[in-house]
Amino acid sequence: MTVTENVTPTVGPAELPPMDVSPRLDRLRSSMDAAGVDALVVSELANIRYLTGFSGSAGMLLVGPERSLFVTDGRYRTQSAEQLSAAGVDVEIEISATSPDEATAAAAKGVTRLGLEADHVSWSAQRRWSNELHDGELVATTGLVEDLRLLKDPGEVARIRAACAIADEALGSVAARLAEGPTEREFALELEAAMMRRGADDLSFETIVASGPNGAKPHHSPSHRTIAEGDLVVVDFGALVDGYHSDMTRVFAVGDIGEERRRMVEVVARAQSAGLEAVRAGVEAVDVDATCRSVIEDAGWGEAFSHGTGHGVGLDIHEEPRVSTRSTATLSAGHVVTVEPGIYLPDLGGVRIEDTVLVTDDGCERLTLAAKDPTPG
Ligand code: ZN
Ligand code: ZN
Repeated sequence: MTVTENVTPTVGPAELPPMDVSPRLDRLRSSMDAAGVDALVVSELANIRYLTGFSGSAGMLLVGPERSLFVTDGRYRTQSAEQLSAAGVDVEIEISATSPDEATAAAAKGVTRLGLEADHVSWSAQRRWSNELHDGELVATTGLVEDLRLLKDPGEVARIRAACAIADEALGSVAARLAEGPTEREFALELEAAMMRRGADDLSFETIVASGPNGAKPHHSPSHRTIAEGDLVVVDFGALVDGYHSDMTRVFAVGDIGEERRRMVEVVARAQSAGLEAVRAGVEAVDVDATCRSVIEDAGWGEAFSHGTGHGVGLDIHEEPRVSTRSTATLSAGHVVTVEPGIYLPDLGGVRIEDTVLVTDDGCERLTLAAKDPTPG
């Protein structure tokens, strides 16, 4: 591949179906009473985006029983008006010259039980709300918007699917380069450029290219190490499309990797396919984790699988439901999760294989479809 490569985008914005944002506020309201709040201050930006379509980096949303107010600053005057209008949500906008929390607090004056998002409010912000901003009761809420975000609607699935397709095609276009001895950083850059050219708005997260001994670190940052004959190379990456992420890992074998590394690849491939087989609506996430883990434990490498089996994917790259030994979630049709077992050994390197999948009533649909053959290209 060259830097001037000319490609047609995999998915253009015009091909994505519209998002159905407007019913979400009422769904949130119907859970607020049970949470013991009369109004809720939403401060987490992905939650604000989910409820209003606003994609900027500053703002606060007050959701009351009937009316809602979005407060942002002058930088987002035009963008907020455009995005909230496009989303069709019934939310007033206030452009605040001071801090958004002061304007939000002024609008919440008189609310008896005001909810804050406990997972997203700093200690200092909580003290400010309590000491200066609000006279009534403050209620710590957890996961009110995140619970709504668990089930992906068709517009969301279409965006995740598009992000996955971009990642698939990008990898296919550059994988053969691994045999030519690039550095980890060179390969990461080519993969990233290939995703951007195919229509990604951004990277889903910092690309992982972990070769040889670096593969033993599950979240290794690409280095100047030159990829060499005999290496296992873990490549974990994703594209971002209209706020939605994809997440995929493939492992490549450069030249002859020897018998022990081949066995690592074979065991992880078996664990991953057993995990995919286990995913379906109604199954406990902890059981999917156990299914993957038992294949690796039976091969004698249980200790070397040092992380959970997977996580939800959506507006955040890591979100609920978790698929791990500690998960309490039951999978439902419409969840999007990853299945990504791995083995990490300081002497031999690392192997991880990961797909993003949509949970269905009778199993799951893989959204990342790149081949799993470890031979590059
Ligand atoms: Zn990943
Ligand atoms: Zn992942």
